[in-house]
Amino acid sequence: MRLKATLLVEGINFTPGALEGVGTRFKEQNHGLFGWDLVNHKGVDMPDDFVHSDGTVTQFRFNPASPYVMSLRSGDLVVAKRDEVLDHVTLIPRPKYYDALTENGATMRQIAQIGGEDCFFVCYQNYCSHFAGGEECAFCNLVATKRTYESVLTRKDVKDIGEAAAAAFSEGMVKHILLTGGCFSHQKEVALVADIVESIRSALNLTEVPGTILPSATTNEDDIRRYRDTGIGAIGYSMEIWHEAMYQAFCPGKSKNTSHDDFVGAIKKAVKIFGPGNVYCVLVMGMEPRNTFLEGIREMSSIGANVVPFVWSPNPGSKLEGHRAPTAQWYIDTTLEAAEIVSRSGVPSGTRNHCYRCDGNSLLHDALRNK
Ligand code: SF4
Repeated sequence: MRLKATLLVEGINFTPGALEGVGTRFKEQNHGLFGWDLVNHKGVDMPDDFVHSDGTVTQFRFNPASPYVMSLRSGDLVVAKRDEVLDHVTLIPRPKYYDALTENGATMRQIAQIGGEDCFFVCYQNYCSHFAGGEECAFCNLVATKRTYESVLTRKDVKDIGEAAAAAFSEGMVKHILLTGGCFSHQKEVALVADIVESIRSALNLTEVPGTILPSATTNEDDIRRYRDTGIGAIGYSMEIWHEAMYQAFCPGKSKNTSHDDFVGAIKKAVKIFGPGNVYCVLVMGMEPRNTFLEGIREMSSIGANVVPFVWSPNPGSKLEGHRAPTAQWYIDTTLEAAEIVSRSGVPSGTRNHCYRCDGNSLLHDALRNK
């Protein structure tokens, strides 16, 4: 966990030959949503994430100035700091479906990617209206990433998503889905998300779909029930920052549409319908003080919701590009305290729908796994 926190904060460099096979034998970044690297790398394939010797998954955040380096030592892939080997690591095999085409002729990796080792990830629309007025969230580089890499389709066809899901699950590595999207008319979003999950469910021939959807927050119980009726296991809302005034400052567009209280109300209602442990509050960790972040963890745990806190990356193209995240020690101390709160609260872990292997940019599920 210490090494993961350090690599997420400081980023990682690599030596020649260390990344051989990325994009052919090993899974490369396809920038399905944000760019998390500290520096862009257009034209150079880099791993999405990698696995430590104890099974922990860490996101690969490229930073050519980082003292932490992925390199080969006696044929083994390691993470080292100067001459000191810190861990032996492995890259994640590249899914075969990445190069397959849908019946419509779309390349499947431009529709859905694998997050971590086992999560089928779809962003159904790589678009957000907050950028037009300069009111995007301060940590977000969605539009810049799309423009830099042009690696995914902006809008995905429902049937294409179902076909990609069937291909991905048939390879045996996928255990969960994660579905997110941009901002658009609420009613259209409810219908679209329901159609997508139902298309996946029917392609997989399942009655329940293990995974999580992250639509816009809603307090309308009929809409939440509509989501639940699709067979999806969990729902989450991206609240981003717990501290209300900081949320308004960092997320000017989003906070105009959905207030702090709207989020809390939406999460409470979702817990009622999806059940404790099956609702997530997604936060960006490292932009607000430790005590307000932990206040959020406490309140969410008290109402039966789980939290996925992503370690902030001051990534290229975001308003806060070039800033610095807190130290790795801050992340470790704060995460351990958060894990204590969550575990004492007794909220079910929800790992059936989202687990530590689903993504490499959160530390909380690692801390909870160690408990
Ligand atoms: S709501 Fe914020 S985080 Fe989400 S896509 Fe828009 S700007 Fe980015």
